[in-house]
Amino acid sequence: MTVIKFDPDTTIVAPASGTGGAISVVRMSGKHAHSVISRIFKPHDTDKEADAKSNGFSIVYGDIMDKGKILDDVLVSYFRKPNSYTGEDSIEISCHASSYIQQRIMELLIDNGASPARPGEFTQRAFMNGKMDLSQAEAVADLISSASEASHRLAIKQMRGGYSDEINKIRERMLHFASMIELELDFSEEDVEFANRNELRDMVLEIKSYTDTLASSFKYGNAIKNGVPVAIVGKPNVGKSTLLNALLKDDRAIVSEIPGTTRDVIEDTVNIEGVLFRFIDTAGLRETADVIENLGIRKTYQKIDHADIVILLADASDSTNDINSSYSEILNQVDDKNKTIILVINKCDLLSEEKKLILLKQLKCPGNKCLMISAVKGKGISELTNIILRSIKDNSDENTLIVTNLRHYNSLRSCSESLARVIQNLDDRIPEDLIAMDLRQAIHYLGEITGEISTDEILGNIFKNFCIGK
Ligand code: GDP
Repeated sequence: MTVIKFDPDTTIVAPASGTGGAISVVRMSGKHAHSVISRIFKPHDTDKEADAKSNGFSIVYGDIMDKGKILDDVLVSYFRKPNSYTGEDSIEISCHASSYIQQRIMELLIDNGASPARPGEFTQRAFMNGKMDLSQAEAVADLISSASEASHRLAIKQMRGGYSDEINKIRERMLHFASMIELELDFSEEDVEFANRNELRDMVLEIKSYTDTLASSFKYGNAIKNGVPVAIVGKPNVGKSTLLNALLKDDRAIVSEIPGTTRDVIEDTVNIEGVLFRFIDTAGLRETADVIENLGIRKTYQKIDHADIVILLADASDSTNDINSSYSEILNQVDDKNKTIILVINKCDLLSEEKKLILLKQLKCPGNKCLMISAVKGKGISELTNIILRSIKDNSDENTLIVTNLRHYNSLRSCSESLARVIQNLDDRIPEDLIAMDLRQAIHYLGEITGEISTDEILGNIFKNFCIGK
């Protein structure tokens, strides 16, 4: 694995804007940023340039010169350390969005002393210079890739600090206790107790409950970030593909496709009111014959296992006994209480109002998780999307902190495990050196989240997934 080494002496440059549009941005950061730009930039007003270099916070209009000729007229924004994204002297050139101009500006800057930036190197510098902690740096990548209002909201919350403050506070509290216990070890002959064991136990219990809660929010956070997985299951011909098409065509839904190598792994994703839903491997499900009759079919249950929401689709002409037994078999199979299972009766256009009422009465379906629709006529689809949305939004509260990052989740889990050992050891009156060791480990795992503790390998893994220029 390539590990990005941070070399604060280099001045880095990269294109910072995406393709398309009228303007492109090239950014440069490092101790020589201001002197490198002055070798190729001719400001229209030299006083303004001098002022911009010494104070930052300024934009200067002028020409980029290439071998004595004007390459482009541009705006250069000057940032003076530490008041920049990276915390270093930086500039951003807004030039015309020609790939030739952008490439030539990059070459001129590199010829004059800058080096091409590696993926995420600007953000890595921001982290190294204390402009943000590691979880905030990771949120920058999440923000750029956020594809829905909900994932955007979680990314921006994390970028603004999220749970970093709380984690730093609890780390401090644990550090205090760990040092007290370690001090006892220095006085082991004298049988002193600097850390009150009851207070320590209470604190560890409280912190463990916090880390457990945060860790358990990951399932929801991950679903929001990558799309809430939904499985539509049911016998052949009940109308699964017709329903999927109806959901995709719903006017509140924006359709997109995640391309895969074969049709089987293409996932249909729908953005419903700012939340991304991912219909998992629907192609595969459609091909599985006798899905409900052969409840042993592992493949179907894998889909159900991987889904947060399961739509069990039945045909209105099926016998109520069949529908009820399929539904209860699915309920029995699923032991995850957080999974939403919705019974949907399709083809209701073929039933009279009277028959509909009779059917509804006979269905053994708790709450309002049962719905009658006609996929082909588009009837009941918006009620269904409302139920789907509600089942997700019920889990989300504006103020709840939510973990979206697998690395954080793993660290939180490891932290909780260490804390569970501390509690056990306290209860078993195990010697203090073991208690101190587990406490230190818990502190270590929390430090991994914010980057108090980081290795080149962790950093390399995080920043290699960033785009160049970020
Ligand atoms: P799948 O095998 O479960 O994916 O079922 P399809 O979506 O392919 O539908 C099977 C048949 O049922 C097709 O002929 C559809 O036109 C028909 N169908 C689907 N939904 C409805 C509905 O709401 N009403 C009626 N009358 N027919 C429907």
